[in-house]
Amino acid sequence: MNIAIIGAGPIGGYAAYLLAKAGHSVELYEEHAQVGCPIQCTGLLTHDFDQFNLPKDSFLVNTFRKCTVSSPHFSTTINQKEYLVSRPKFDWFFVELAMKEGAQLHLNHSFLRKEGKNLVIRDSAHKTEKIISPDIVIAADGPLSKTAKAYGMFHPTRTNYIGIQATVEGKFDPGGYEAYFGKEICPGLFAWIVPESATIARVGVATMKNTKHYFDTFMQQKGFTVKELQAGTIPVYCSEQVLQKENCYVLGDAAGFVKATTLGGLVPGLKQAEAVAKSILEGKDLEKEVKPVRTRLWLHLKLRNLLDKFSDEDFDKMVKYMDQPRIRAILEQHTRENPWPIVLKTLFREPRFLYFMRYLVLDIGHFLP
Ligand SMILES: Cc1cc2nc3c(=O)[nH]c(=O)nc-3n(C[C@H](O)[C@H](O)[C@H](O)COP(=O)(O)OP(=O)(O)OC[C@H]3O[C@@H](n4cnc5c(N)ncnc54)[C@H](O)[C@@H]3O)c2cc1C
Repeated sequence: MNIAIIGAGPIGGYAAYLLAKAGHSVELYEEHAQVGCPIQCTGLLTHDFDQFNLPKDSFLVNTFRKCTVSSPHFSTTINQKEYLVSRPKFDWFFVELAMKEGAQLHLNHSFLRKEGKNLVIRDSAHKTEKIISPDIVIAADGPLSKTAKAYGMFHPTRTNYIGIQATVEGKFDPGGYEAYFGKEICPGLFAWIVPESATIARVGVATMKNTKHYFDTFMQQKGFTVKELQAGTIPVYCSEQVLQKENCYVLGDAAGFVKATTLGGLVPGLKQAEAVAKSILEGKDLEKEVKPVRTRLWLHLKLRNLLDKFSDEDFDKMVKYMDQPRIRAILEQHTRENPWPIVLKTLFREPRFLYFMRYLVLDIGHFLP
């Protein structure tokens, strides 16, 4: 089969690898001149990444053993192994794997439009256009996916966060990263300080509105100066997003497969890539294959809806409840990739978390599947 993948990000690259390895002819189209640039990601990975059995040495920047979570007046430290990656190297790792299996990479090639069953691709280096007619198209072209839109698959209710991040110099504990919650700091999400080393960190915020204002305020509060600035769009998971139509599959950020609580899309996207490959290679039902990921992302979205209603006092309560040995033990046993055991066990061991469920009563519509 002739497969065209639009977008050589990590998720498109991984899908290209899985499909080329199975013997298909895979063409990977990337609009930029380089894979992984510009950088639009912090590069945090939970240790669930280990389940993919892939070597990390070519892209690993740091390994954390703890995360400190702060509300306006409290903080707690959760011990957990996590990875920090270099996104250009991470993206290239997957594309190189795919190329070793025979996939063809076309840099400076962007998807322009669909004409009947054909796709129009622009080669910006040579200022030419060409028409391709693949058997299968995979839209892995990020959160604003032009390809998904061309196939009429981009769900109209989808929304996005804007993330702004800087590389800064300072003095850091390279063994852990920090997340700051609170309406003043970063309404709707959190600000982060993620050290690459003892002297360099990635610092950022993500919000739906006024991101630059919150970013500037956080940088000022912490006394950081921008060394290198990055910004990007992060999709909010949408349960109604269709994943396949005609001969087109939508994958990764293009499908909005991102955890709505933390905006991490790498592990869910890689899992979805495996499900899409299985569906193409073995004829498996895609929705059935992807259901475990969807169920987790659904709960993340519901938690997001709850967190969006939190006052600063609620964040203080949340962090105070988290800072108990019996709750920390749960948070250290499970990664955030699957929030189900975390939610169920913490509610059981600390019934005061039920206090937050009052928002459920105020807005029951959000909790209907
Ligand atoms: C500030 C910020 C911080 C983040 N931090 C984290 C984090 O710490 N951990 C985590 O798991 N996730 C994080 N994310 C989310 C993560 O970056 C995404 O989930 C991930 O990049 C999704 O990969 P992807 O391959 O689906 O899409 P992308 O990485 O967006 O790749 C899409 C590719 O398609 C290309 N493309 C776009 N349009 C076209 C076109 N028309 N034709 C051809 N090519 C095209 C793009 O150039 C790009 O290379 C963060 C995002 C942001 C913005």
